[in-house]
Amino acid sequence: MKSVYFFGDSNADGKAEMKNLLGGKGANLAEMTTLGIPVPPGFTITTEVCTYYYNNNTQFPKELNEQVLEAIKKNEKIMGKKFGDPSNPLLMSVRSGARISMPGMMETVLNIGLTSKTIPGLIEKSGNPTFVYDAYRRLIMMYSDVVMEKSAGKEPKDGISIRERLEELIEKRKEEKGVSADTDLDANDWKELSIVFKSKIKDVLGDEFPDDPHEQLWGGIKAVFQSWMGKRAIAYRNIENIPEEWGTAVNVQSMVFGNMGKDCATGVGFTRNPASGENYFYGEWLSNAQGEDVVAGIRTPNPINKWGRTDKNKELETLDEAMPSIYNELEDIRSKLELHYKDMQDIEFTIENNRLWMLQTRSGKRNGIAAVKVATDMLSESLITKETALKRVKPSQLDELLHPMVDPVAEQKGIKLAEGLPAGPGGATGHIVFTSEDAEIWTKEGKKVILVRNETSPEDVHGMHASEAILTAKGGMTSHAALVARGWGKCCIVGCSSLNIDSSNKKIEVNGHSLSEGDIITLNGTKGNVYLGEIALSQIDPGKNESFNILMKLANEFKTLGIRTNAERPEDAFQARNFGAEGIGLCRTEHMFFDPERILAIREMIIADNTNDRREAIMKLLPYQKKDFYEILKAMEGFPVTIRLLDPPLHEFVTLNESQIKELANQLKIDKEKLSKRIDALHELNPMLGHRGCRLGIAYPEITEMQARAIFEATAQLTKENIKVFPEVMIPLVGTYTEFENQEKIVRNEANKVKSNSMSDFNYSVGTMIEVPRACLTANEIAKKAEFFSFGTNDLTQTTYGFSRDDIGGFLPTYLETGILPQDPFQSLDQTGVGQLVEMGVKKGREVNENIKIGICGEHGGDPESIYFCHDTGLNYVSCSPFRVPIAILSAAQANLK
Ligand code: PEP
Ligand code: MG
Repeated sequence: MKSVYFFGDSNADGKAEMKNLLGGKGANLAEMTTLGIPVPPGFTITTEVCTYYYNNNTQFPKELNEQVLEAIKKNEKIMGKKFGDPSNPLLMSVRSGARISMPGMMETVLNIGLTSKTIPGLIEKSGNPTFVYDAYRRLIMMYSDVVMEKSAGKEPKDGISIRERLEELIEKRKEEKGVSADTDLDANDWKELSIVFKSKIKDVLGDEFPDDPHEQLWGGIKAVFQSWMGKRAIAYRNIENIPEEWGTAVNVQSMVFGNMGKDCATGVGFTRNPASGENYFYGEWLSNAQGEDVVAGIRTPNPINKWGRTDKNKELETLDEAMPSIYNELEDIRSKLELHYKDMQDIEFTIENNRLWMLQTRSGKRNGIAAVKVATDMLSESLITKETALKRVKPSQLDELLHPMVDPVAEQKGIKLAEGLPAGPGGATGHIVFTSEDAEIWTKEGKKVILVRNETSPEDVHGMHASEAILTAKGGMTSHAALVARGWGKCCIVGCSSLNIDSSNKKIEVNGHSLSEGDIITLNGTKGNVYLGEIALSQIDPGKNESFNILMKLANEFKTLGIRTNAERPEDAFQARNFGAEGIGLCRTEHMFFDPERILAIREMIIADNTNDRREAIMKLLPYQKKDFYEILKAMEGFPVTIRLLDPPLHEFVTLNESQIKELANQLKIDKEKLSKRIDALHELNPMLGHRGCRLGIAYPEITEMQARAIFEATAQLTKENIKVFPEVMIPLVGTYTEFENQEKIVRNEANKVKSNSMSDFNYSVGTMIEVPRACLTANEIAKKAEFFSFGTNDLTQTTYGFSRDDIGGFLPTYLETGILPQDPFQSLDQTGVGQLVEMGVKKGREVNENIKIGICGEHGGDPESIYFCHDTGLNYVSCSPFRVPIAILSAAQANLK
């Protein structure tokens, strides 16, 4: 059995495809070596050996020893050093490497091969005793911890691990010397400490620290295999569903040192700028240092080249100035890696005595702006195909181009006040205000504000619009605040339950902080975090970002799913069109009634106690609605517009306090008591399940009549003006065929009347929301008449789970923490449950009308995972808020490529 795979000096037994046998790390080291990239030579002991080890009572296969010795010989030859040699010793590292990366879960031992015999030789060769004794004490610390304690299954005595005990000794030494940093200790300190370390180890663990290089090496190898069955690794495997049979490989590699002297260095970099995507080598380096020093923050790292210069490092020498030939070699490797891996790489390198070694390459993490630029640049460089370019950008990364974002570095230093649900992505900073009126006043004074409330209602819309962001203590991802903010692309956090808001005194208590009106806070709506004070934001203009435009064009080429928008204001419709929306999938009409002039008419209608009065009141709204529909239809010229008839329970229009009731009674010239009684009568215990949706139009047909007439009169006028419009009238909350039939008749009747009165002809359709389970179960009946279906997955989620969409914020955090729910079902569609109803609705609907147009207009229409599902389920389109249109377009393209 071949158990050992060698790599070094441009030759490797393994390759990238052998991840199952060699683990991710081993396979990649082999691949880089074959590419001719200078990788410290080494070898990988296969995952099969791990399996053998556990199947054979923790014994290794017989041939392993010989294969390891042979591989060490090859290493020695390439490095010109010998393992265990007193005058020119080779040191080795031992690391784990499973099929997929399990960060921090398994063990590593470095500097193997340092012994009483090899130490003098290495001091002689390096001329640097501090370096050698520092390396030796690190070996002792790692080895005693990993091999002698953990892998040997020894429980730490008195709960104090050997590592902690040795660290205590270092602290003691520093105290005695009166210094604070490890780097203040010299060769003699480390030398003496290593002696003390060894006797401590003998005392505590009962074993001698081995002074033989081969014993150290086998101890290390065994410890890595043992760590596969360690507590941490098992727990990680369970969470990530990694089968135990996979096993881990062990990578043994020659050590190279960047901290041996002035001709040594170490660095990290990206083959392109990971923050902007620009195509140049970007990184940092330090002379005479170890890898971890670059990231530890003790020394300011130098820039690699001019592109890495900042105010902080501008005086420091770049690598191309200090070591030009090595820099050029790195540039060559950078091109070679990109050409081979066809992606931006994140690399680590070490320079030992003027010789460059690559320690790692992997796909580089990047922000959204860089992801878009790298993908489209690599496409134009012919490195990748169109399909790959589209798959390279996570749809949610586009948020970074569409909204202002909180500066991630500044955010880390911010004081976090609370967490809530991430209802509207992006960042915002501003003064706290508690009422919509204040939001408007402060904004007029030129101040940026964040509106903080327990929850919002349609009456707050003007203040919400004036604010930079909205923060609510209650509510879920489809609450009023969330829907409205998302519609405008505004930052919003809801369900932030640790906020104790005292609106009357304009104060907030939150996790031990007291805040008042005017105090500044910052929201990260992408994460749901609230911070004290101002944190810097940044924003780009997506329209002017060439890479974004290229990506969108490409996505449009590859998608088959239609993308519409949810909008009720012409400016939002224009915004969505600019982003590529192909129509409106949901125009909610209830928000149109909160204007001061209109609200009076609707209130008059609500309190009317006979049909005549009601009709008279509602008809006052006809000219307003006609204008609304005229404008929105015109804004979407050439595309369909789905207009939904009035949906919310009527009491939402009359949430009034005593003095407002009095004022309204005066305005309407009616008795205040009578008015109060009528308002009380409208009160419902479960308004979400109460008198709303089509139930309103059925009880008060004049509402449907007025709205339908307004839609058709607007359509007739636009048609006369030669503007092509396609209204689609949508009946909300239908659960029975008869409900639909009732409302459809009124709508068609109005259409016919308008056609004959205006002596014009126009096209329109009548369809329904599918948002209660019964509508899904009986979709075959409803589809006999309905010309389209639009899944209202906000209400469908609410009615399927029985979770109130406005109150889920109260218990959702617990549900997510305990794993009862994997995610917020109002954010990403519950495909196993609610998804079944959607599939059923589609199937049953198409059974009787195979051409029925089917879309989705719940908030899930803008969520990438839900969009993949909609594509697979055969929907014709998804509809989402304007600022999510680009995300939906990219998701739809990706769905088609899956
Ligand atoms: C829905 O229920 O999914 C929907 C789109 O309607 P609304 O959110 O207005 O209830
Ligand atoms: Mg609904």
